[in-house]
Amino acid sequence: MIEKKNFYINGSWIAPKNQKDIQVINPATEKSCAVISLGGKEDINDAVLAAKEAFKTWGYSLKQERVELLEDFYVLYKKRWSDITDAIIQEMGAPKDFASKLQTGTGASHTKSFIRYLKEFEFEKPLGEHAKNQRLIYEPKGVCALITPWNWPINQVTLKVIPALASGCTMILKPSELAPLSAMIIAELIDEAKFPKGVFNLVNGDGATTGDALTSHPDVNMISFTGSTRAGALISQNAAKDFKRVSLELGGKGANIIFKDADTEAIERGALRCFRNSGQSCNAPTRMLVEKPIYDDAIERLKKYANEFKVDDPNKEGEHIGPVISDVQFNKIQGLIQKGIDEGAKLVAGGPGKPEGLKDGYYVKPTVFADVNNDMEIARTEIFGPVLSVIPFETEEEAIQIANDTDYGLTNYIQTQDNDKVQRVARKLRSGMVDVNGAGIAVDAPFGGFKHSGIGREAGKEGLLEFLEVKSVGGWN
Ligand code: NAD
Repeated sequence: MIEKKNFYINGSWIAPKNQKDIQVINPATEKSCAVISLGGKEDINDAVLAAKEAFKTWGYSLKQERVELLEDFYVLYKKRWSDITDAIIQEMGAPKDFASKLQTGTGASHTKSFIRYLKEFEFEKPLGEHAKNQRLIYEPKGVCALITPWNWPINQVTLKVIPALASGCTMILKPSELAPLSAMIIAELIDEAKFPKGVFNLVNGDGATTGDALTSHPDVNMISFTGSTRAGALISQNAAKDFKRVSLELGGKGANIIFKDADTEAIERGALRCFRNSGQSCNAPTRMLVEKPIYDDAIERLKKYANEFKVDDPNKEGEHIGPVISDVQFNKIQGLIQKGIDEGAKLVAGGPGKPEGLKDGYYVKPTVFADVNNDMEIARTEIFGPVLSVIPFETEEEAIQIANDTDYGLTNYIQTQDNDKVQRVARKLRSGMVDVNGAGIAVDAPFGGFKHSGIGREAGKEGLLEFLEVKSVGGWN
């Protein structure tokens, strides 16, 4: 059993002020794999004070110093690759190969990419050729509260911690209480890389106590949050009281528009993108919109694909999916699958219950519903499980209308060989990202959403800018 009860505050691992333990449950076994502590108000006060003090110098540090420290961190990150992967497998059940290549892999690629953008970034520059005595100065926002979820734990931690460090901010990270182990390795690496004390702090805990104490603390200047729309709204209310800057990455209900001239792999590729990570990705294409002439064929193919799709132990190698994160999520997904059946959607694969042979663990059957109407709950709610809703359409306009008829606006997908159509449709989709014919969104492209999917962008240059305030100085000679 792993015991990780201390918090990383002001450069040391220290015991909580009032010990309150919780178990970290391995979703593949339903048994505890570690014990951590829940931070209270006093722990948050200590961490915020450390970050506030550290900002007095780190906020004015030289770019070169930050580049060198981040480069050291990057080297150390690669050395601990298998430890990070093992932590992710245990805490959230991502299968070995997926956890290593994609989950741990994204942490490395974000770090590398942010170092490049930091090197290129001009923190001071003239407004333009026409106004040389007008100076723009980009300054770190200050003390940041970074709150992350469990579904892509290291991806989301590095999308926040690395640009915060790069920009000269100081921070308190509160990782998900369901998946805190990989984030604690990041704290160890920051310690080993010798960032000045107080620049980075980590306090574990839940949302209602620890998260609330952090986001309502008056000395926090910025909150960067990834998670549910529900928590995003609560955090925004806390932030509004003293005008904290807020960056939110929330949910999604992406549409994948499959036109009749889509490439031959588009259907299976769409299902894979929905099922991958056990459906626990905010940018998953969970509504597949299929043009009528190829609809029946698509349903047949999806039925076969989902029935053959492997669900298995995350400790095994291979291309299968593992369990979902918790009993709460398992029950929520089961309830929504039943709701789909009750609402009259046609169940063509999967359905309620666990896959055969998997008794322990929160495993869900890859599920496909056909003849879904966009008003049904399974088409509107972010299920966060391997559940695909297929909706037929007749015209391009109708496809765009259905795709945009959602509270969310994170990622939509287009599959067609007609480039004019791609450009027409991409311009009309109300989402932060549009992925065409499986091309993927680059690791350093702005990641974020319209509408209830959030505020702000992560990754690359925009991700760095999120942590900076711009100051205008007139009369600079
Ligand atoms: P959540 O939003 O409750 O938790 C995410 C993080 O926010 C955790 O660190 C949690 O402790 C913290 N948190 C929760 N409430 C908070 C509050 N009031 N103040 C401050 N911090 C708070 O997400 P969840 O309960 O783990 O998952 C529920 C649903 O959220 C999922 O079904 C899914 O739809 C969605 N979700 C989306 C993403 C995403 O990447 N967009 C990630 C995780 C969950």
